[in-house]
Amino acid sequence: MFLTLTSADAAEPLRSWLVREGIASRPLQGGRALLVTDPWVPPDLRRALADHPAVVSVEETVELPRLALTAPAPAVHPGALPLVAGPCALESLDHALETADFLAGLGVRWLRGGTNKTRTSPRAFQGAGVEAADWLRLAADRYGMRCVSEVTEGPDAEAIAERLDLVQIGARNMHAPRFLQRIGRLGKPVLLKRGFAATPEEWLWAAEYLLDAGAPGVVFCERGMRTAAPLKRFTLDLAAVPFIQRMTASPIWVDPSHAAGSAPYVAPLARAAVAAGAQAVIVECHPDPARACSDALQALDFPAMTALAADLRRLTPVCEKAGAL
Ligand code: PEP
Ligand code: MN
Repeated sequence: MFLTLTSADAAEPLRSWLVREGIASRPLQGGRALLVTDPWVPPDLRRALADHPAVVSVEETVELPRLALTAPAPAVHPGALPLVAGPCALESLDHALETADFLAGLGVRWLRGGTNKTRTSPRAFQGAGVEAADWLRLAADRYGMRCVSEVTEGPDAEAIAERLDLVQIGARNMHAPRFLQRIGRLGKPVLLKRGFAATPEEWLWAAEYLLDAGAPGVVFCERGMRTAAPLKRFTLDLAAVPFIQRMTASPIWVDPSHAAGSAPYVAPLARAAVAAGAQAVIVECHPDPARACSDALQALDFPAMTALAADLRRLTPVCEKAGAL
């Protein structure tokens, strides 16, 4: 942003104000202008600057996604318990029903479950496709839950999406603009995972592809980044939580399971995400992790899920009081 000011006296107070907001800027033209070098100025601050009596005009220096200026917020609130859960991949109708029955009993309102999986290895279990989406829909309906699953490029993306309340774009497909447009055209809210190494620009522009094509809203989901020396599968970038909340009106969920890749690490990361203000965590669980067809090592068993739900229930009122949620 390039701000033309009424007088040179205004530059320093405005610059200090921006410093307190964590935003870099520098005076130009002997203080008659201020160049805001950080492109990520939250919309409310952007408006306050434009309305400031010492600001004559505002020029945008980079094109920002519409989403970073005003964002439609989808109605996907996980309820009192900020927890969305289910298996990495659905293995049978019984598997879906057993998991939904257990999770509904914990107070979980959103069920996840993989249908077509984006597995790293072509030899790994690929998911049961549309049939799995039927199991997921049936299980969610039986227990009064809503459901989310990933859709992948392929002929049955639409058929799977039709059965879902929230359509997930996986980390590997965040960078596929034509696919984003195809899914946006379905007119359903989308859970947009962040690519392993996606910059804020790439993530927000990916959301913009969805919105431009017709998606009524996007829920962002941080799921871990590939860094130089991660201790576990990925490095969970929790700065994404305040970033998305400052820059957009969209919810942000966090997936601690794929970040951790290992069950004992999932609950601590989930608690940290909720403490940071995430609207929900999306966690993989399985009635018998050792027999899971995919991501067995990171699946929580039912006792571990029960403990996590209790932790999040305790944490949520504290965070709400502190204004994080
Ligand atoms: C998933 O949630 O099932 C999944 C594969 O996640 P990601 O795209 O983040 O790897
Ligand atoms: Mn998984």
